[in-house]
Amino acid sequence: MNLKNLEVWFVTGSQHLYGEETLKQVAVHSQEIAETLNASSKIPVSVVFKPVLTTPDAITSLCVEANTAANCIGIITWMHTFSPSKMWINGLKILNKPVAHLHTQYNRDIPWSEMDMDFMNLNQSAHGDREHGFIFTRLRKNRKVVVGYWKDEQVQERLGIWSRACAGWYDWQSAKFARFGDNMREVAVTEGDKVEAQLRFGFSVNYFPMGDLVAKIDAVTEVEVDKLYAEYNEKYLIDAAGKPGAEYYENVRTQARIELGMRAFLEEGGFKGFTTTFEDLYGLKQLPGLAVQRLMEDGYGFGAEGDWKHAALVRAMKVMSIGLPGGTSFMEDYTYHLDPSGMKALGAHMLEVCPTIGDGKTKIEVHPLGIGGKDAPARMVFNVPAGPAIAASIIDMGNRFRMIVNDVDVEVPEHDLPKLPVARALWTPQPNLQVGAGAWILAGGAHHTSFSKAITAECIEDFCEIADIEFVNINKDTCLTEFKKELRWNEMFYLLNKALK
Ligand code: MN
Repeated sequence: MNLKNLEVWFVTGSQHLYGEETLKQVAVHSQEIAETLNASSKIPVSVVFKPVLTTPDAITSLCVEANTAANCIGIITWMHTFSPSKMWINGLKILNKPVAHLHTQYNRDIPWSEMDMDFMNLNQSAHGDREHGFIFTRLRKNRKVVVGYWKDEQVQERLGIWSRACAGWYDWQSAKFARFGDNMREVAVTEGDKVEAQLRFGFSVNYFPMGDLVAKIDAVTEVEVDKLYAEYNEKYLIDAAGKPGAEYYENVRTQARIELGMRAFLEEGGFKGFTTTFEDLYGLKQLPGLAVQRLMEDGYGFGAEGDWKHAALVRAMKVMSIGLPGGTSFMEDYTYHLDPSGMKALGAHMLEVCPTIGDGKTKIEVHPLGIGGKDAPARMVFNVPAGPAIAASIIDMGNRFRMIVNDVDVEVPEHDLPKLPVARALWTPQPNLQVGAGAWILAGGAHHTSFSKAITAECIEDFCEIADIEFVNINKDTCLTEFKKELRWNEMFYLLNKALK
């Protein structure tokens, strides 16, 4: 997926009050800003200039066009001059693409010795954008507001982050996720309202019997399996026990066969992600491990134990992070290090952690797995390098979805973990484990997350504004007392906001 094939439209509002000359000037300036943003390395999508809007009909037409343009993933609005906002009501009411309101000014500095009334009339975003902001607020319409000079890297970066959120949202529309097997029995947090999710998010989630997948796996030829094994051997370090003639050679080949069968199923059905469950492996020789890791590495979303919400979230975050260093994986908060001098969390899963977050020293190993009752599965084992990351979780609160994001700091373990046969990440949640995990538990965050070293909480916040769902961020500033209040206030807000809109 090439993000440059996706467009955000640069839309400038004005009116006829100022005369033709001024409007020409506005158009020239807008075009220059759009071209600069388009060329910015901070913005991964194409920024497309659109003619200056000066009438209600033109505004409404633009919004209709944006709604139906397949590659338009959002619009950036800017009022170089003053554009009376009643002109925008009909258009904004029907606009269904995300909006970023860029509050900038063509001229960076006040030309102190030269400034006259003509200059002021042209460079009046300071009040033009306030009129524009009012109508969004009055319409209760979510948008991102970015303030600053358009050539500033920081401004371009914030627009870039928003455009990544738009890309993730765009990818979700009409996306399909497949569930191999149902939810893990009796587990609550991985459940949820799939009808509401489709209404709210645009993607569908459907169940497929294991037999359909097994048929695809059985159709894979020995030659194809050998070819994929050779690819594994080239790309990763296969443990001696998994080499030809050794004890677990066939176990690695079994995962190659599962990968090829799953891939064929997902490609034929046009799926962007999937779930598995160890409670339904009927007809499979092993719990899919290496196979799932390989598919995640290629951009598929994944959730274990039937967790379709996190499969969808992993996929969206992978799209949002295209081209960025780091990576995104399905993850689970697994175990703690509760030494008072530095409490940490160790994240992993039974098998399924994506190597895009790893240190590149990926080893394929085979170990028996007590859970699932199948043969010893092959899996990739690696560490995750130090650095900032986020853990994001989406839960169904009954009347809404809530996104919880914890900013965390990944650390390299001081000790080796020679007996741990899975990929793992060690991190300190911000602001510390006590407050971070306490807030997470109070918010009802899942044990499963989408874990990313590539994108920040700001991107997920933008994404939640677009999706119009609740977003809470646990970060360096989090205080439990205030956080509890935020959760309670949000409870009230989401009871009332449907009546407001
Ligand atoms: Mn799990």
